[in-house]
Amino acid sequence: MAFSSNSPVWAPVRSSSIALGLTAQQVRRVVNYINRSPTFLARMLEFEAAGGQLTYSEDSTNCFWITDKRIYVSREQFCNSKPRANDADVETLTEVLAHEMSHFVTYFQEGLDLTKAASCDECAAAGVRDEARAYAHEYLVQREINQTPGDKVDWMKEGQLEAIAAGAGAAAPDGAAVDHAAATRALLDWAANWTGPVESAGGYFQFYRNYWLEKVAEKPTQDIDANSVKITTDPQGNIANVEYKRSGSRVATSLPGGVANLQVA
Ligand SMILES: [Zn+2]
Repeated sequence: MAFSSNSPVWAPVRSSSIALGLTAQQVRRVVNYINRSPTFLARMLEFEAAGGQLTYSEDSTNCFWITDKRIYVSREQFCNSKPRANDADVETLTEVLAHEMSHFVTYFQEGLDLTKAASCDECAAAGVRDEARAYAHEYLVQREINQTPGDKVDWMKEGQLEAIAAGAGAAAPDGAAVDHAAATRALLDWAANWTGPVESAGGYFQFYRNYWLEKVAEKPTQDIDANSVKITTDPQGNIANVEYKRSGSRVATSLPGGVANLQVA
């Protein structure tokens, strides 16, 4: 079963329902990528069956929001600037969808709830694992798309493919069968420290640690030293230990049994 460009998933972001939204041709371009990746297609069909939709965010963020099953995408980046200008960034929108589909699985289907974390470090570890899984999903989808005829995509961030290659042994990441779990484990440190283009923004470990401090403990947020997080897994692949630096001082927290009920595959 192929994904349809007429799916209700697209309704709120189409030019027929919102000014400068995606044209029918742009929606078909995204759908064409989805249908080239069996992994991506399966997730999108589940998302559609669950009543999920895309919608524009007001603050130019991209995220999955569990309460309304919506994927919020940046209006600035994924709208057309003028009627008929046709300049919405369709390839990056496709990447965002491949990423958010992984969060859809963990939050919606598997019930990940970071507010249940017992400590800031446990929350940070679970959040990092979920992000590593989302970037591993992007990698799998990209690999599947690029194995089919048609336009190629290149979504990998600085150091992402190298981390997968190193963590998955000698296997060449573009051809070899690195599976989702192996790619997720290989990306744990990378995701923990990945800040995007602005290093002072902090990595995902700091982001999810501060989420817990602020939202659960109602305490002030804290900065983690850049590129200082190291995550160790047990033989089953559960996160067993996290280590990082704050203002130059080393902090180590062991998480026996992984991250308990926050564990995701
Ligand atoms: Zn994410």
